[in-house]
Amino acid sequence: MQENNSYRHKPIVLVAILALLGVVLVTAGLFLLLSPGEEAFHGDRVKPNIVLIVMDAFRADKVGAQRNGVPLTPFLNSLTEEGACFSRAVTNCTWTRPAMASLYTSLYVDAHQVVYDTHVPEEVSAYAALSPELDTIATVLKDAGYATIGIQTNGNLFPEFGFDRGFDVYRTSLDDIGSLVTDWAIEEINQASAPFFLYVHYMDPHLPYDPPQEYRDMMGYTPGSLAPEEREIVENFRDYLMAHCKIKTGQISQMPFAPLSDAGREAVKCLYDACIRYTDDEVRRLVESVRAKASDTVFVILADHGEHFWDHDLLGHGITLYDCELRIPLFLFGGSVTPGKMDWPVEIVDILPTIAKLIGLSPLDSWQGKEMFSSEVRPVYAKTRSNSPAWNTDLESVIFEGRKLILNRRDGDVQLYDWPGDAGEIHNLAEKEPESVERLRGMLEQQYRLNLRARQGVHQETTIDEETREQLRRLGYMD
Ligand SMILES: [Zn+2]
Repeated sequence: MQENNSYRHKPIVLVAILALLGVVLVTAGLFLLLSPGEEAFHGDRVKPNIVLIVMDAFRADKVGAQRNGVPLTPFLNSLTEEGACFSRAVTNCTWTRPAMASLYTSLYVDAHQVVYDTHVPEEVSAYAALSPELDTIATVLKDAGYATIGIQTNGNLFPEFGFDRGFDVYRTSLDDIGSLVTDWAIEEINQASAPFFLYVHYMDPHLPYDPPQEYRDMMGYTPGSLAPEEREIVENFRDYLMAHCKIKTGQISQMPFAPLSDAGREAVKCLYDACIRYTDDEVRRLVESVRAKASDTVFVILADHGEHFWDHDLLGHGITLYDCELRIPLFLFGGSVTPGKMDWPVEIVDILPTIAKLIGLSPLDSWQGKEMFSSEVRPVYAKTRSNSPAWNTDLESVIFEGRKLILNRRDGDVQLYDWPGDAGEIHNLAEKEPESVERLRGMLEQQYRLNLRARQGVHQETTIDEETREQLRRLGYMD
């Protein structure tokens, strides 16, 4: 018996020694992991929840704007005090699917390849999708122990395109009313276990610009003052927009509508502003609900791209890399994010590395973006190969040290602008500053080669059902 007792004590002593050793190692490990730089983000040393809110087609210059004395973004305005406001943020592509693929993967468009290929004929039957081999924001956070929830109302990001991978829950709807999106998100949060990652996609600012009546009234929308044929165009704006784009891209030679008067144009902008205010109110409702349930939450709020409203005589998005499409609102707040105005260029590929930094995850080698709180001066890149192959667009841009270069790959044309000084991009400096053109063009070529090297997986294509196809048609993504 004595021997047996002694024998039984040995493992207990061993376990105690191992446990003590474990405590010492874990403490040392924590000390090493949490360098002073990280403590600035991560003071409480517990993983915060993360809420990512994307407001589709939300122009950056709407933040702080008013219509008839009514603020368009009272909630976002409040964040300029409380949160980190990135005032020079840009997207990496000016239409949803490639832009969101860059957010998901921290890869530029030529690296993730979620874009129309140049060989795709006008009548597309296959659509570029996210390669199943890529790590995404959802797979990374799921691996880090997060419950992952997506609320999706843009058909471009439906499961058939691979954007649901890594999500425990991925609720989709083709009914893109913001109130439904907020309700669903709150429902999911109320039953989610911490830490959670919630991604919510609001479609309200996107075509067809159809805000609730209350918001039309709030913005002073008065359709009765328009001629009946103009009112018809304004309230069914998709067809006019598509025709306008086709004229601009040479697909048709005559506009099937009389041009809108200034009052008609203003009415379209008024409806868009009503959509902006509606989105701001819904985002506020969501943020306040999440905070009531989970105070330790980091919020990231941004747009995937902007929108033309006759800037450069164009409409819609995906067709240029001008600032009205390229620049996006971007706010981070909550947890221990340091508030302040950050006025250096950052881009969508930086979102994932920044979130990783906030929760103490090491960046993956594949990521091309950088943690955005570092003000290190570096170039930001974008590309658009149009959201319709028929529009024949193939543009790339780089912004660096106060200059923005736009290169048209179709014809070799270059435009150079003072950035962000020349906000309307009116004065093309390309002829006046050939050395800047050469330098920035060299950067584009070098980045293109890096993107080819960064490619992982293959160019993935998928097919979609008639319902999704119909929504994409309604949103202006196809005829
Ligand atoms: Zn979009």
